This record gives sequence, structure tokens and C-alpha cells, in this order.
Amino acid sequence: MIITIDGPAGAGKSTASKMLAGRLGFQFLDTGAMYRAVTYSAMKKKIPLADQQALAAVAAEIQIAFLAKRVLINGRDVTDEIRTPEVTQNVAAIADSPPVREHLVKLQREIAKNGNFVCEGRDQGTVVFPNSPCKFFLTASAEQRAVRRMEQLTKAGQTADFQEIVAQQNLRDQQDFERPVGQLKKADDAIEIDTDHKTIGEVVGELEAIALLRMKSAAEQAELS
Ligand code: C5P
Repeated sequence: MIITIDGPAGAGKSTASKMLAGRLGFQFLDTGAMYRAVTYSAMKKKIPLADQQALAAVAAEIQIAFLAKRVLINGRDVTDEIRTPEVTQNVAAIADSPPVREHLVKLQREIAKNGNFVCEGRDQGTVVFPNSPCKFFLTASAEQRAVRRMEQLTKAGQTADFQEIVAQQNLRDQQDFERPVGQLKKADDAIEIDTDHKTIGEVVGELEAIALLRMKSAAEQAELS
């Protein structure tokens, strides 16, 4: 069973996806980390971000693996490196690249084919797993998302300017919604959950209740056929 969770940056997807996977005993697939891993590798190799062929080659040659909540590239732990502001700034160019997306979509399906997974990203319910029986689209107001980001940065001991966070968030939203392929979009059959004014516990409780119902009906259908 695949559960997909898509939505814009800052809607609370990562925390909710991890917690939901933990409660259901599912594995968690962070597809944003895969785009970040390709970005990090391309930057390391000083590949121009407009060189589609070279980017596709990087995506194809690196080995991305997830091990005990860590992200590995060719066996090396890059969990922290892929989350630097530099990688975040450059990742849109990689996420816009059709050959990179094609490769990562294949890899995501490959990873999730043998097991129960919560797959988090932007295109999981629309492109990667269109037949998933349980799709969520998490949203939150732009203001709430920026407040959360501000809190995260402050907690991490970094200085943050609220207006700058809002500007960066607007840019990321535009890039996500307007990307030529794999754009951020709610699947027609996804359940939209507005996380504004809800605690993470409430959000995960809602996701879990729906997921359990969907799992039950998927099991009943499998028994009938
Ligand atoms: O979720 P996260 O912020 O780590 O994602 C990093 C980048 O990868 C984002 O800019 C997002 O647009 C892109 N992405 C994507 N498709 C996915 C997951 C992430 O284009 N399935």
C-alpha cells in the first residue's frame, strides 16, 4: 500500500509523513531529499545547472540510499549537506529538468514496489503513484507556513528575517506550481487537509484515521477479487 502526501513547502508534510509512517508501521520515502541529493552532487561536480544532459548523467550515476533516517550518496552520509541554503537555492533547476525527473520517478517506484510506504513530495499522487488508494494534499496559509519556517530557523539558532522568508516562500511556490513537468498539483482524488490552526498531533490523527479506513477497504476489495 502506498500513501501519498503532497503539498507546498512548509505545509507540515515532512513531520506529518514521518509520524504517520511510524504509526502505521510503514516506511517513509522523502522524495525531496532525492532532488536535493542530485543538486548537491551536481554542485560538487561544478556542473552548470542549465546543462540538462550532464544533470541527467549525474542523476543516473549516483546511488541514493536511505538508511536509518539518514540520506546517503554512494554510501556517504549527506543528510546535513543536502539541506544547506545553497542546495535549497539551486534545487529548483534540478527539479525542473525532465530527464532528471524521469529518472527519479522510476527510482521512487522501484524503491516503493516491495512494501508499505508513505511517499512525500509534490507529484506523488499525480505522477508517481496515480493508483494509490490513499492520497493527501496538505496545505496551510502562506502566513502560517512562513511563521513555521521562522520558528524552525530560530530554534536552529539561525537569524531570520520574516519578509525574506515570505519572499523565498513565494518564489518556491511559483517554481513548484509552474514547473513544466511534475508540478505541484492536487490529484483529483486526493483529500485536502488544511493544517492551519491544527497541532501536528491533530493533523496526524486525521491522516491516520482516513488511512486506516482506506487500508481496510483496499483489503476488502483484494479479498473480493
Ligand atoms: O521537500 P523539499 O523542500 O525537501 O524538496 C526539495 C525540492 O525538490 C523542492 O524545491 C521541490 O520543489 C522539489 N521536489 C519536487 N518533486 C518532489 C519532491 C520535491 O520537485 N516529488
